[in-house]
Amino acid sequence: MDSCSKSARESSSPFDSLVFDLDDTLYSSKTGIGEALKKNIDDFLVERCGFAPDKASSLRVELFKTYGSSLAGLRALGYDVDADDYHSVVHGRLPYHLIKPDSQLRNLLRSIPQRKIIFTNSDRIHAMKALKRLGLEDCFDQIVCFETMNPDLSRSARPDEFPVVLKPSPEAMRITLRETSVDPCRTLFLDDNVRNIAAGKAVGLRTVLVGKTVKTKEADYTLDAVNNLPKAVPEIWVDPNDDGDQIIISSTRNEIDSILTPVGA
Ligand SMILES: [Mg+2]
Repeated sequence: MDSCSKSARESSSPFDSLVFDLDDTLYSSKTGIGEALKKNIDDFLVERCGFAPDKASSLRVELFKTYGSSLAGLRALGYDVDADDYHSVVHGRLPYHLIKPDSQLRNLLRSIPQRKIIFTNSDRIHAMKALKRLGLEDCFDQIVCFETMNPDLSRSARPDEFPVVLKPSPEAMRITLRETSVDPCRTLFLDDNVRNIAAGKAVGLRTVLVGKTVKTKEADYTLDAVNNLPKAVPEIWVDPNDDGDQIIISSTRNEIDSILTPVGA
């Protein structure tokens, strides 16, 4: 049993804070936003950087695999790409109407008494737009986004002076823990990306892999959609004012057991 498992506050919820990824976590990866994003990156590579249209997709994939994003890769390779211009194309041209309001998720988030934080690699404008489309713009206490992780990028003298920082880098996790002041042992981190989940686990966060059914060893929980959180992690709602471990959300033990999927916890 790890040091996080036992606590003087064991009778209350084991979580003080919940940290949510945004894209493909708070809304489904099947909206079409992800596909549009890829096309926009390809268009940026052609329009702004002059790459051949038939090479753009493969270049995007290579940059993502090697550097974590096309923006990070382009700047590391010496292309003087402005982050705001990149985001204005890659996110600014997204078909946001595909993201629909999710009143069920809104009610779910509003029922969570703990601090709730967004942690996204996307820029702040995109985060605000997506949250507004979902009807969740007032459901979070803090947003950690591209600008939070890359405060010095705009004043760099040359493109590779400050490497772009994004999940799942240890630096991104370090900045987020510092900016949010969360106790990783008592924080639940939800993300759809297995590498991000592994990075979260490495800094001591409790982890939920969202939108997947295949388990990974770094995920404490796995759930197919974020709306199923109450059944997968009912202990979020343990009332800290209760002496016992009464769960506010009404779920029978069998219901919980059938869905709860701790992995290596
Ligand atoms: Mg995501």
